[in-house]
Amino acid sequence: MPGSVGGPRILLRRLREVMAEPESAQKRLDKIVVLIASNMVAEVCSAYLMNGARELELSATEGLKPTAVHATRLKVGEGLVGDIAAHARPLNLADAQSHPGFAYRPETGEEIYKSLMGVPILRSGKVVGVLVVQNRTKRHYTEEEVEALQTVAMVLAEVVAAADLVTEQQEERLLGRPTSVHIVGASFSEGIALGHAVLHEPRVHVTKLIAEDTELELKRLEQAVYALRGSIDDMLETEDLSHAGEHREVLQAYRMFANDRGWLQRMLEAVKTGLTAEAAVERVQNDTRARLQRAADPYIRDRLHDFDDLANRLLRQLTGVTLASLSANLPSDAIIIARNMGPAELLDYDKSRLRGLVLEDGAPNAHVSIVARAFGIATVGRAEDILENIEPGDAIIVDGDTGEIYIRPSQEVIASYSEKARFRARKQEQYKEIRGEPSVTLDGHDVALYVNAGLQVDLPHLEEAGAHGIGLFRTELQFMIASTLPSLREQIELYRAVLDAAGDKPAVFRTLDIGGDKMLPYMNLAALKEENPALGWRAIRISLDRPALLRHQVRALLTAAAGRSLRIMFPMVAEVAEYSRARALVDKELARLDKFGKERPASLEIGTMLEVPSLAWQLDALLPLVDFVSIGSNDLLQFLFASDRGNPRVATRYDFLSPAVLSFLRHIVVKCDEHKTPLTLCGEMSGRPLEAMALVGLGLRRVSMSPAAVGPVKMMVRSLDVGRLEAFMAGLYGLPDRSVRAHLAAFAEEHGVAV
Ligand code: PEP
Ligand code: MG
Repeated sequence: MPGSVGGPRILLRRLREVMAEPESAQKRLDKIVVLIASNMVAEVCSAYLMNGARELELSATEGLKPTAVHATRLKVGEGLVGDIAAHARPLNLADAQSHPGFAYRPETGEEIYKSLMGVPILRSGKVVGVLVVQNRTKRHYTEEEVEALQTVAMVLAEVVAAADLVTEQQEERLLGRPTSVHIVGASFSEGIALGHAVLHEPRVHVTKLIAEDTELELKRLEQAVYALRGSIDDMLETEDLSHAGEHREVLQAYRMFANDRGWLQRMLEAVKTGLTAEAAVERVQNDTRARLQRAADPYIRDRLHDFDDLANRLLRQLTGVTLASLSANLPSDAIIIARNMGPAELLDYDKSRLRGLVLEDGAPNAHVSIVARAFGIATVGRAEDILENIEPGDAIIVDGDTGEIYIRPSQEVIASYSEKARFRARKQEQYKEIRGEPSVTLDGHDVALYVNAGLQVDLPHLEEAGAHGIGLFRTELQFMIASTLPSLREQIELYRAVLDAAGDKPAVFRTLDIGGDKMLPYMNLAALKEENPALGWRAIRISLDRPALLRHQVRALLTAAAGRSLRIMFPMVAEVAEYSRARALVDKELARLDKFGKERPASLEIGTMLEVPSLAWQLDALLPLVDFVSIGSNDLLQFLFASDRGNPRVATRYDFLSPAVLSFLRHIVVKCDEHKTPLTLCGEMSGRPLEAMALVGLGLRRVSMSPAAVGPVKMMVRSLDVGRLEAFMAGLYGLPDRSVRAHLAAFAEEHGVAV
């Protein structure tokens, strides 16, 4: 009765010995198949590895004709070997030749073998080959034998990929990893970046596969799973969701998987076959990935990501690798690759080393994208399958203008992108040249261009961009990057620095806008377990319910602005009463200044963001009470369309250049004109030349944007005839079209507007 001689553990030990010998990859493979065949009492053992042409090439065999090695090739899906690769699952057949998928290859001499057991060779969840054993008899291989062969296949994958075993080129050939990959995502932040990939949450690479003490490994695994469950429970409890990618739903999925007995059981079984705890996690993860990857259902594919993240967390738990230790060794041309992240996480990186950002999910108006734009980091989002195609350290080009990504680009692509980067630099020069020129249209209308800012590092941009002032200073960013609540003194210092940088130019401070995707890790946010955080307890709502926070901030602003001009605005105001209450709070702080004999600001203007649609229908009541209004199109339009700005599935579903948006904005412009209230738009819309053109066309004369957008928008303004555009746009408001983008682009083209 055939069976495994000495079991998989002995086999693994022998494999380790073979791997330690200084031999070529081919010799090692040859030895390994002999070892497997003898250990499994099989007459044949063959390794088929994926070649550059994505064929399964017989690369080593014990038992089949040696002349077939490197001659026999099967396509994925062809024959039983191809079937195993196509479905990434084992086949166990006592009578292989009667299987409908059997493909006879005379050069191998395999016609005399009846039974066949084959398993996929998986690396990072991808099929890189197939390992097969065959017997002359109609042998029924046991489940344990299938498991054992899977374990061996995993070790084989590492053998094949070991950097010291094969040259990089061979590795790519053997692993079927195409040298260059081109992915097209969506542009989130313009710019060209050439650099090297850094995985935000890198896959932990398991180097020690074979266990020395199985009992110890079982214990390690159990303890790690236990600790993992605890940490997920903690995260759910404290709801410290500073990570945009970690919504409650995702954490709940983690918890479900982490508590899944089947998962733990499968990993324990893998350890029992002789693997280390880490290798067992990877083994089971490989199986799961390969199975789920084939699911067409996007929901299942999302769960695969969750499962991947979870396994990676478990590996970090086992290896003690922390994310902090990983981000400490950032290359000087880092391009961060993440599934998704929150703004605070991006801010954690050393900005001077960041060149680009790629998000597999993400949304253009989510705060992480806004922060990326503020930093001038080329960003591409919704880059499908990026994580599957990239390894840490890979060369990568991110084209934030077109949304293209090149992984391991060819010399030609590098050359053409270096040229493109130079071209961009020349364009930047042109923008610099018009920096001192007025932002005025061909027919004489001034359009004031402001910058959005939020951190001290943003301040030099005001001067560099030649902007009119700071149209939006997001004060919450200081709170988000701090590990504890910034003190009054720290706030005063920052606000002073902003006013110093602004000089004579206006700077509009927006009071704390937290909640939604802007979380403060140190605040007790237990009360924020919300179904719809964007519609929840955030911004002015928190400020009015916890007035101490707002009063503190207003105090800091008034103190910093003693003897100077100060402009304050409130976020997320939905009704006039909210504005009035917030303003009353400022009055109280003014009275306090007087009481202590402190100097007041020389002038004080107070305004509001208009980013909740309800406020647009109270303008006659509101406008007499405010000094200015600023439209926050990011929030306003997510509420208008009921489409979450941070949810990649819906964030770009509607075009902001639609008759609905233009009419709505026009209504606000008309009202503000009537009341002679200064109106700005400070959402991301205003930083895109075509959108900015439409805004000017519907009557806006002040826009605030990320600093890098000022040059391109000014170029647009200086080439525009507003009179003509207004007449043209009069015909757009009533159109039934979902978007009038093409109409506007045609206008720009026809009239030579630089968009
Ligand atoms: C907006 O909503 O448009 C806005 C400017 O504010 P934030 O993006 O910070 O929410
Ligand atoms: Mg907003």
